[in-house]
Amino acid sequence: MSFDLHRPSSLAEAVALAGLFGPGARFIAGGTDVVIQINRGKIAPAHLIDISLLPGLAGIAATAEGYAIGPLTTYRTIERHAAFQGPLSALVEAAAVVGGHQVRNIATVGGNIVNASPAADFVPPLLTLDAVLDIAGPQGDRTVALRDFITGPGKTSLGAGELVTAIRFARLAANSATAFFKEGRRKAMEISVVCVAASLTLDASGTRCVSARLAVGAAGPTALRPERAEASLAGQAAGLTSFRDAGRLAAEASSPISDVRASADHRRHLVAVLVERALTRCAERIAGARP
Ligand SMILES: Cc1cc2nc3c(=O)[nH]c(=O)nc-3n(C[C@H](O)[C@H](O)[C@H](O)COP(=O)(O)OP(=O)(O)OC[C@H]3O[C@@H](n4cnc5c(N)ncnc54)[C@H](O)[C@@H]3O)c2cc1C
Repeated sequence: MSFDLHRPSSLAEAVALAGLFGPGARFIAGGTDVVIQINRGKIAPAHLIDISLLPGLAGIAATAEGYAIGPLTTYRTIERHAAFQGPLSALVEAAAVVGGHQVRNIATVGGNIVNASPAADFVPPLLTLDAVLDIAGPQGDRTVALRDFITGPGKTSLGAGELVTAIRFARLAANSATAFFKEGRRKAMEISVVCVAASLTLDASGTRCVSARLAVGAAGPTALRPERAEASLAGQAAGLTSFRDAGRLAAEASSPISDVRASADHRRHLVAVLVERALTRCAERIAGARP
């Protein structure tokens, strides 16, 4: 294994280097995916462009519309951020179960998205928030919905030399909450067998669903939004019956594989259970926040 390591000092320099070296170059942020892939011989970049110290790409900003997360933000920062401790706590719940402490101190949310693993834990909560990605590249800047960005296992719509510069999403409506659940073969340091995120909005009485957004990871080639399950909740009484129905529809929408970690049947079962559980947690959170 041999590569040249580059340490650009600005975003413009990083993009220019990536444009110059083309497909032979890789960005490296925390390195917790890319170094393992190099060590395993899955990729052999001739140039690694270290973006970990680039200014302005780490941290969380509250904007007029919502929030902007820098791609270099670590899971530890997400876990501790005050704005995500309430209705947006799916983000904290997902961040808190990525790897162990060492990984969470260095690994970045941008790396999780661009790596595009079907089991990436931080992707489902962002999908339920309808997150968009700001991207800078040799051809200029663009914005793309996260939903359209990941196109397959390990595949994204990122062009040569393009770099994710921000992950943005709007504030939640009133009477809303989010939740995230992950199931693995053990409780810690484990890739998801299935993970589920939910974002639920109830009416002013707190008893009826206005809308729901669901996302399921590790149960298909990419994390998916089970639209029929989401639509089934609109106007329904919030509770076990509607949440269980949504879980069943989400399981039907998933297309898991059988592998060393679980059978496809077990994964489908988990999707149904975790969707019901996540929606129940959202409803509990909304109730808990009511005056
Ligand atoms: C022990 C261990 C346990 C783990 N456990 C989990 C887990 O439980 N759940 C989970 O989801 N993941 C897990 N991972 C995977 C990994 O930690 C995460 O996916 C992490 O978020 C990757 O971030 P990174 O900064 O290390 O990415 P890197 O390895 O630096 O980069 C990953 C990919 O993204 C690209 N990239 C990074 N940032 C950008 C950017 N801003 N713009 C464009 N391209 C970019 C890189 O070129 C590379 O292709 C684990 C990894 C290890 C080693």
